[in-house]
Amino acid sequence: MLEKVVIANRGEIALRVLRACHELGIKTVAVFSEADRSQKHVLLADEAVCIGPAASVESYMNIPSVISAAEVTDAVGIHPGYGFLSENPDFAERVEQSGFTFIGPRSETIRLMGSKISARSAMQESGVPCVPGSDGPLTDDMTEVSKIAKDIGYPVIIKASGGGGGRGMRVVHSEATLRNAVSLTRSESLAAFNDDTIYMEKYLENPRHIEIQVLADTHGNVIHLGERDCSMQRRNQKILEEAPAPHIKDRIKRKVGELCADACRKIGYVNAGTFEFLYEDGEFYFIEMNTRVQVEHPITECITGVDIVKEQLRIAAGEKLSYRQSEIHLNGHAIECRINAEDPESFMPSPGTITHYHPPGGPGIRVDTHVYQGYAIPPHYDSLIGKLIAHGETRELAIKRMSMALSEIVIDGIKTNIPLHRKLMDDAAFINGGTNIHYLEKKMGLK
Ligand code: ADP
Repeated sequence: MLEKVVIANRGEIALRVLRACHELGIKTVAVFSEADRSQKHVLLADEAVCIGPAASVESYMNIPSVISAAEVTDAVGIHPGYGFLSENPDFAERVEQSGFTFIGPRSETIRLMGSKISARSAMQESGVPCVPGSDGPLTDDMTEVSKIAKDIGYPVIIKASGGGGGRGMRVVHSEATLRNAVSLTRSESLAAFNDDTIYMEKYLENPRHIEIQVLADTHGNVIHLGERDCSMQRRNQKILEEAPAPHIKDRIKRKVGELCADACRKIGYVNAGTFEFLYEDGEFYFIEMNTRVQVEHPITECITGVDIVKEQLRIAAGEKLSYRQSEIHLNGHAIECRINAEDPESFMPSPGTITHYHPPGGPGIRVDTHVYQGYAIPPHYDSLIGKLIAHGETRELAIKRMSMALSEIVIDGIKTNIPLHRKLMDDAAFINGGTNIHYLEKKMGLK
């Protein structure tokens, strides 16, 4: 097993990785910015190294600083968590070249999947269904672009190949606005992702977002852990996730899971990964792959009993997967509510000190958070302060437990989106299950 691992992240995921390491007897090194000295995982880690100022570009995103921290502490591996450097192929490559183990896929795989265009073609070659779209990047020739749009059929969506975080996309309903949309997305893409490569896909009007979790070891073993439904979104950002996805036949979901596992074998994928799909009218369409642990991994852990982060560490250490596909059985239903420090009406971030904190509890409740009473949420990072996860034998019970947990939890001193989640638990369409990606915004009157 790896002896010592640097946790190149902050917040709840840093604590999650720390716990998995300690369970496996791995020593931990926390790296932190000047704004994060009082983070829970920094206090609990075996060693801690300050890697720079509050601004994440100067600390959590600073490749030389993170690698130096591994060097000075004699660590052997680096776990990137999610966000920050987790999907940066240059970082993974530098980690490997510096002689450390990157706890994630090979840098070539991250590079391949980091471009949505190359990911699409790799998936098409592997037999994974994709949204109909352009064969590769769009050129400057508008006659050609408009022909592609006509062939696909409006509405279409122009997307940045290097895009992420729900940015760099524009829907086009008719030829009249195509030229403008193409040039705007191109310049935005250049500004935000330093790459003006864009492509076109059919815009699916009322899809659900369904994703498949996979695990692959270095011995060629690959398993899939079922799906998650992440359709409750605001501005393309997930708010609530659940597993399994309601009202989709098991047979169809199993088939997609198998296709994803096969694709992993074909591209030589290693470690944990997620295939994201849009699902509409009974069909799955691949949109992108995330080559890292996801925020919403705990719901899969609840229903499969597999500890995804421990598997990541074992895989990185060269061990075989602890499970065969035939040993994966889905048990019950799990829901995750992302708790954000933000105004529930305006969604403005609400950093500050937590004056009172009481976590919820009881059967089937898991709370993944780094916050505690007296903790001051710094204003420099994203607003996720924790995840509330409820598991039950049935979806109904999971909702009931989530509802109780949301009424028990107390987080005072800052604003949170807990009131929004409480409303959702009483919402007839959510209770029925299977709402599409526009539902939440429509319900909140945002659309
Ligand atoms: P990102 O990398 O920014 O997360 P994705 O490609 O995963 O981008 O897309 C994010 C979200 O944007 C999806 O969950 C979906 O809501 C919407 N979206 C992306 N592609 C399409 C499409 N072809 N049709 C309809 N909605 C889409």
